[in-house]
Amino acid sequence: MGRRARVDVTILGSSDAFCSGGHPHVAYLVESERSTFLLDCGPTLLLTMKQRGIDTAAVDFVVISHMHGDHFAGLPFLILEYIYERPRQRPFRVIGPPGIEARVRALFRALYGDISCDALPFRLEFEEAEPEKPLAVGDVELLPVQVPHQVDEVSLAYRISVGDTRIVYSGDTPWIDRFIELSRDADLFLCECTAYETSMGRHIEWHSLKHVIPKLTCRRLVLTHLGREMRAHAAELGVECATEGMKIEL
Ligand SMILES: [Zn+2]
Ligand SMILES: [Zn+2]
Repeated sequence: MGRRARVDVTILGSSDAFCSGGHPHVAYLVESERSTFLLDCGPTLLLTMKQRGIDTAAVDFVVISHMHGDHFAGLPFLILEYIYERPRQRPFRVIGPPGIEARVRALFRALYGDISCDALPFRLEFEEAEPEKPLAVGDVELLPVQVPHQVDEVSLAYRISVGDTRIVYSGDTPWIDRFIELSRDADLFLCECTAYETSMGRHIEWHSLKHVIPKLTCRRLVLTHLGREMRAHAAELGVECATEGMKIEL
């Protein structure tokens, strides 16, 4: 810690579960000096990586916010990629909420019952992210924060630090005031804003969020996980909205 580190974030997908407006599901590629990882892994992941010529083999690990399909259903395809297309030898680690291993293995079995993900040519490692328990991978430090998106399962936001460079990712959630403190002076706050006016359940709505924005001190705020109405209004909000291919250099 104590050093400003160069970090690049590439938006690979920025839509809600419905690919609203024809945009792919959420996935973000984060590259620091020593680590390349994916933050969430929607089912359209391989499509968007290959469209942009991003080498799938470059990914060191994956961090999952919660186990809704639009955030983790890209994993079986990435694992399949590492078996056949880009054979992998080094371990592949998946970090996510409690229960992540059983869910990913069950999902893989459901999609490819005839291929075992128990005897892979590489080590598939899982690490549970417990709320409020910091964890470190290479030069990346993660603070998982539980958010009230799901009732019976744990949904997480993350504060990600590489040296002094900080990113806050909301995952999916309704607004919580803790984000004000969590994103204080952060270099990037990647914040979901699924809904514009019409409530979409346990998500953030623009009409509430706009009143909180003046309290934020992050250097850059980028809205993502945009639903149909949000996408339609994106150009007139006066706030940056994520779109595929956008590269944020921190
Ligand atoms: Zn979602
Ligand atoms: Zn969700």
